[in-house]
Amino acid sequence: MQVLSVASECVPLVKTGGLADVTGALPAALAAEGVRMRVLLPGYRAVMARIEAVQTLHDTPDLFGGPARLLAGRAAGLDLLVVDAPHLYDRDGGLYLGPDGGDWPDNPERFAALCWMGAEIARGLTDWQPDVVQCHDWQAGFVPQYLRQAGGGPPTVMTVHNIAFTGSVDAARLGALRLAPEGYTPEGFEFYGRISALKAGLSAADAITTVSPTYARELMTPAFGMGLDGLLRARADRVSGILNGIDTALWNPATDPAITPYDTPEGKATSRAALIAEMGLDPGAPGPLCIVVSRLTEQKGLDLLLRCLPVLLEQGGQLALLGTGDPGMESAWRDAAAEHGPRVAVRIGYDETMSHRMMAGADAILVPSRFEPCGLTQLYALRYGTIPLVAQVGGLADTVIPANPAAVQAGVATGLHIHPLTDTALALGLQDLCALWRQRAVWRRMQINAMAQDVGWAGSARAYGALYARLADRS
Ligand code: ADP
Repeated sequence: MQVLSVASECVPLVKTGGLADVTGALPAALAAEGVRMRVLLPGYRAVMARIEAVQTLHDTPDLFGGPARLLAGRAAGLDLLVVDAPHLYDRDGGLYLGPDGGDWPDNPERFAALCWMGAEIARGLTDWQPDVVQCHDWQAGFVPQYLRQAGGGPPTVMTVHNIAFTGSVDAARLGALRLAPEGYTPEGFEFYGRISALKAGLSAADAITTVSPTYARELMTPAFGMGLDGLLRARADRVSGILNGIDTALWNPATDPAITPYDTPEGKATSRAALIAEMGLDPGAPGPLCIVVSRLTEQKGLDLLLRCLPVLLEQGGQLALLGTGDPGMESAWRDAAAEHGPRVAVRIGYDETMSHRMMAGADAILVPSRFEPCGLTQLYALRYGTIPLVAQVGGLADTVIPANPAAVQAGVATGLHIHPLTDTALALGLQDLCALWRQRAVWRRMQINAMAQDVGWAGSARAYGALYARLADRS
């Protein structure tokens, strides 16, 4: 089985979010399933600088406004295909944002070019023929549409990592993007009078996946579907959810170079003391040490947590937060630290190593997201024996077994759920968390369950492999 994965970012080469972790991890995980996955990426500077053993597979004088080459090569163990189009990708700035912080004005063309090349490969441009094309988020959304316009190709999978990004484009650019006008309908890629690249993928793909089963169901509802829920309901028989995994070698408390390694809940004590010292927290606090590691945006629900902080503190708990994002939210958290120190400590910034130390040192992690396609921090936390208190949405609901009386009795709980996500429910959740923490045997059982939970890629890779096999059989 050969699969072409079309993506705009991929760890360890280029990353702005969790999408890159998935596209970077899938090829190795799928190799174990007998799938050879090649990743098609834009030739950003960071990619061009790393790619080795380069071969030119194809040359064209005009790919959306300039000459381009299709390259094959390897980098960081990945088998890559790269669209080398300097007029689109060879520039200073971010993957999607220019130096002024706004979207690159030619983003539609930049990712249409990636999709065009993906569709051409799928239709036999090179000697290597994929059996299935895997498209990630709106940046790869035009691939199924281009294949449909060209009269077909191998089956396609459109994967939604976050439906909040729809790839919306002015309809006047339809011709420039080489889109067939017949597709500009409500059943096709028309979206509120504009073109949506994500909708192009969702309407034309043979299968649609997202990164957790619960998010797959949520996307079909108006509350979560961002206007695409109707289309997804109409195509419900094609929609499924496959959970993301994490890199269990990188996130392994027994070997993590950033911490004093451990493989039992008791082993966390050294890291806990170190985290308290590092953050200037209260070593004598009679409650759980909670953490947040997050982007500070509306999605993450941390405004609710700010309001509920007094409940945690009254119960003897404390909180360390590491995050960056909305300036207003950053300053609100700084103020909270000033008001409640030393029981509340805040680090504004992005720091991978620090996030490892926090996962190891904490008793609990708080993730009150309004929506969460999969979520990674609760998975890291589980592996480190840090108990997640999560909103019962998306992948959070799918990966944390809530400590209701039956689950506690059966000894299977790994965390707590908040539902619905309101101040009252979060406050009650924090009270329950503190009460559970005081029941040392129950808490320890939860930690052991958490550390034993399978959060790697193997199960997900089996699910992707089975989906590809079904699609390839059908075609
Ligand atoms: P999202 O993709 O919506 O930001 P996820 O939980 O899926 O949420 O992934 C977030 C990733 O970014 C995780 O790997 C998390 O550890 C990391 N992260 C977020 N904020 C920070 C930070 N301030 N410092 C270090 N890592 C962070």
